[in-house]
Amino acid sequence: MPLHDAALIPDTASVNAVLAREVDHLPSVSVVLARLLQLTRDDATSIDDLVKLVETDPAMGAAVLRRANSAAYGLRYKIATLKQAVVVLGFTNVRSIALEVLLYERLIRRVNSDFDYLSYWRHSLAVAYLCRAMARQLGYPDADIAHSAGLLHDIGKIIMQVYGRISYSAILPQLQENACSAHEAERRLVGIGHDALGAYFCKRWEFPRPITLAVSLHHQRFASLTLESHERLLAAIVALANFMAWTQGLGSFKAPQPPALQPEVYESIDTGKLDLNEMLRAMDSELQATAVFYNFRFPSLPAVRETLLRTNLDLGRLNADYVYLERQNPRNNAAVSHIKENLVLPHQSLVPEEIIENTFRAIRQDFSFDRLYLLENEPKSRHLKPVYAHCAEGAAPLPAGLEWELNPFFEPILESLRHRVPVVVAGATPQEEKLLRDLGVDELGLVPVTRNGQSAGLIGMDNCRSKQPVQLANLSVVSIIASEMALALEHARLFESYRKRALFDPLTQVYNRGAMEDTLNALFEQAKRGERTLAIAMVDIDFFKKFNDAFGHLVGDDVLKMVAGLMQKTCRPTDHVGRFGGEEFIFILPDTSFVAALHFAERFRLRVEQLGQLLEKRFAGRPLTVSMGVAAYETGCPGGKTLISRADQALYAAKDSGRNCIRGYCKGQLVEPKPTV
Ligand code: GH3
Ligand code: MG
Ligand code: MG
Repeated sequence: MPLHDAALIPDTASVNAVLAREVDHLPSVSVVLARLLQLTRDDATSIDDLVKLVETDPAMGAAVLRRANSAAYGLRYKIATLKQAVVVLGFTNVRSIALEVLLYERLIRRVNSDFDYLSYWRHSLAVAYLCRAMARQLGYPDADIAHSAGLLHDIGKIIMQVYGRISYSAILPQLQENACSAHEAERRLVGIGHDALGAYFCKRWEFPRPITLAVSLHHQRFASLTLESHERLLAAIVALANFMAWTQGLGSFKAPQPPALQPEVYESIDTGKLDLNEMLRAMDSELQATAVFYNFRFPSLPAVRETLLRTNLDLGRLNADYVYLERQNPRNNAAVSHIKENLVLPHQSLVPEEIIENTFRAIRQDFSFDRLYLLENEPKSRHLKPVYAHCAEGAAPLPAGLEWELNPFFEPILESLRHRVPVVVAGATPQEEKLLRDLGVDELGLVPVTRNGQSAGLIGMDNCRSKQPVQLANLSVVSIIASEMALALEHARLFESYRKRALFDPLTQVYNRGAMEDTLNALFEQAKRGERTLAIAMVDIDFFKKFNDAFGHLVGDDVLKMVAGLMQKTCRPTDHVGRFGGEEFIFILPDTSFVAALHFAERFRLRVEQLGQLLEKRFAGRPLTVSMGVAAYETGCPGGKTLISRADQALYAAKDSGRNCIRGYCKGQLVEPKPTV
């Protein structure tokens, strides 16, 4: 067995731990499926085998014929036998049809009613068709294997739904909150992701190895694994096809954003060279035809889709950097110094204002403009306003409060934003005239600033003092500098996010103890000065040690992550969440009274209890609950440490009172919250 299988595909014990029945006792749909997948088109006996295989179940045979005769294949006469179907449509088409029909009839259609199996199936088909088209474009050796891998990539979701202790539909609301890392949430909640679960069954059912690997890897990093190059390419194809399907509104459930693409997808596939239009067209026509057969509808707007997809690919790349770099321990993160190094070369700074200032000064020196300004484009309100200005000595500063609505008459500006080309504005329309009047000039140059392929704003340049004309030729050069500036700004933003991350606990992504204490001390000083109220709530997971003992430390870690995640979701954006140590957390609640903090704590305690009920099927007999201690700033309280020790005393009282409850510390007394009616 290759070395990496153990790391990629879970063992039977871990799979049994998440299923309601042991793997060995599950009904099997696998034999025919596996045989279908193993048939090769080059083998002379395969045609007969294929026909025989499909005929083993007459209903199946009929369904395959029905599908072969559907509009998808546009035949002018009726195909009456399977053998004829193979002759007319070809071996691979019939095998694909058989595979689709078999999966659908035997597995997908039979899931219980709270699972939206049609969306799931539509997603699987879309991914399968995209995989096949992409495989052809990229010269992947077997486009049919790619189709099968796409069709099966999410099979783990069905298995989880039908056989899981916790069903897929039960956790769906939590997955929808952050589809970007839904497979991570699955792992935390259920104990396994749909990718690993699917791969386990693909292997058990003896599906071809590249399919099993692609199922396993479609959300995972695989750069460091020892894989054959065709295995690597197939994994990348499935991941990208999956991403594309989501961007087209063909995800397996409704979610605000597509899954994050792994960086290795971009390394394996040059997305810029893909003929996306052709892929979408292939997917569209196949889906349009199969939609009739499976009774679902979907939109077909290829042109709109391609634009949408281009944008999303760029966005996805950024997303990938974030999601995957974010996970590394920020303090040891080599990427931070790398980003810094790259950045200081062109612009010598990581501070956005300095980057803009340096760039503007350089442009002004080379092209002697009197004024330069950065105009930011607010996509939502469609307004343009100056956010930064650099003026030569003696040039009038920009008037305060400038802002322009980007209405349709603002053509040159919209042109520049849309096509990312420089323009000279000379007053061709009343809007342009207004712009010039507002700025007090006869003419100005505009250069677009793009970030990740999207327009982020414009650099404006004028000669308000010298009245020299603005040369369009110069603007093209400024354009290049502008794109470097945009890049530098992007790096600065990234660096800032790393700097911030040094404050966070790497496991749970909430404030670490140091950051939490700094925050508390600063807020405490404000409370002491009477500027605002301040409360804190300590959270301690009940009998947490038992989770570790019963299920292992990794599951314990997942529980910690879930509780920390829930804390962040429950509090206001102005509140703070920190990990105090081990399984103890803290809420820092500025502008909150003691009584309000007690109410808040009760709300959180209940939410944990609800999560515990969902997880009960997994952690039988070990309900997840928390105990909490609340304290608020009172006159005379000497410092943040005292506040923490008071909340801690209250927490111990809650533990002593039987756990899963709250106690507060108020004016030297330990108090119970009043029951809410
Ligand atoms: P109580 O209800 O009294 O709070 O009981 P408890 O079991 O939750 O508390 P106890 O303090 O006895 O145990 C806390 C355990 O948390 C012990 C320690 O091994 C574990 N722990 C601390 N940090 C981590 C961590 O980062 N990951 C995991 N998995 N366990 C941790
Ligand atoms: Mg998936
Ligand atoms: Mg505890």
